[in-house]
Amino acid sequence: MLEEMKMALSGIDIRVDEPLKNYTYTKVGGPADYLAFPKNRFELVRLITFANSHDLPWMVLGNASNLIVRDGGIRGIVIMFDRLNTITINGYTMEVEAGANLKETTKVARDHSLTGFEFAAGIPGSVGGAVFMNAGAYWGEIAHVLVSAQVMGRDGKIKTLDAKDMAFGYRQSALQSSGDIVISAKFALKPGDYTAIKNEMDRLNHLRSLKQPLEYPSCGSVFKRPVGHFAGQLITEAGLKGYRIGGVEVSKKHAGFMINVDQGSAKDYENLIAHVIDTVKKHSGITLEREVRIIGKE
Ligand code: FAD
Repeated sequence: MLEEMKMALSGIDIRVDEPLKNYTYTKVGGPADYLAFPKNRFELVRLITFANSHDLPWMVLGNASNLIVRDGGIRGIVIMFDRLNTITINGYTMEVEAGANLKETTKVARDHSLTGFEFAAGIPGSVGGAVFMNAGAYWGEIAHVLVSAQVMGRDGKIKTLDAKDMAFGYRQSALQSSGDIVISAKFALKPGDYTAIKNEMDRLNHLRSLKQPLEYPSCGSVFKRPVGHFAGQLITEAGLKGYRIGGVEVSKKHAGFMINVDQGSAKDYENLIAHVIDTVKKHSGITLEREVRIIGKE
């Protein structure tokens, strides 16, 4: 397979048996059989066509900030989008390739005095991952600014989906069931004042640094916000702040986060998540639902 792949996909940066913990925000995760970094859409289409014609499983990663890759890693081809990262401004709209960093995208909006994207100033991740997750914070979410997205189906065909076709909900989009991948996204912003935009972004980033354990590897909020409650508060009330399994701990700063404090594994994360769900259920009767995605083999 490797020789065939080298011939068919020459010129594309593909790494074999590449440990994914070097790429994930949690610093856990076993190897990908093949980790590919397409530089452009042409290379992306070549990769997917090859994978489909060889019955090789494939999946895409953005910045790996919202997932736990299991210790056994991922079979087949994992496609990293970070080199597909062009950002184009057209009047008050931004056309952004899926691999562009979301924080960088908000800075480009700010530098063009475009308002509407400030809410995302501190959200790690790629634009594709943000559309997939309908990422949001404070007063905003992707659904408020997205006009349309160019997506590719599992068959390699490209189409445009309007925001209304995305079935956006709280940390939800239609992409989570369709399997379509985002190639680029178009956002509508409004003209604003550079200083006001910058001040708001700085304010939100400051709030984040006060509340979140940004100095440790993590995957952000592990759980969705249960209706009428805050996951962090429920976890605190269940006495779990600082609770640790292996190298992974419920953050003492923000109990909604689980931080990798001492070379933790994906198994530690999974065990800690299960323990927290169980304990919170017993304590409050509420079942926490995971926001973070867990992928790969045991
Ligand atoms: P990944 O983690 O790489 O992938 C997540 C899922 O998206 C995977 O299933 C992947 O297959 C899919 N995906 C990735 N790219 C594409 C694509 N191009 N097309 C289709 N599917 C794709 N999230 C919030 O919403 N609000 C926050 O305030 C927030 N704060 C965070 C703070 C910290 C410290 C951390 C570590 C995370 C935080 N997150 C937050 C979670 C995360 O940053 C977001 O969910 C982000 O949008 C995930 O993007 P990503 O590129 O890292 O996706």
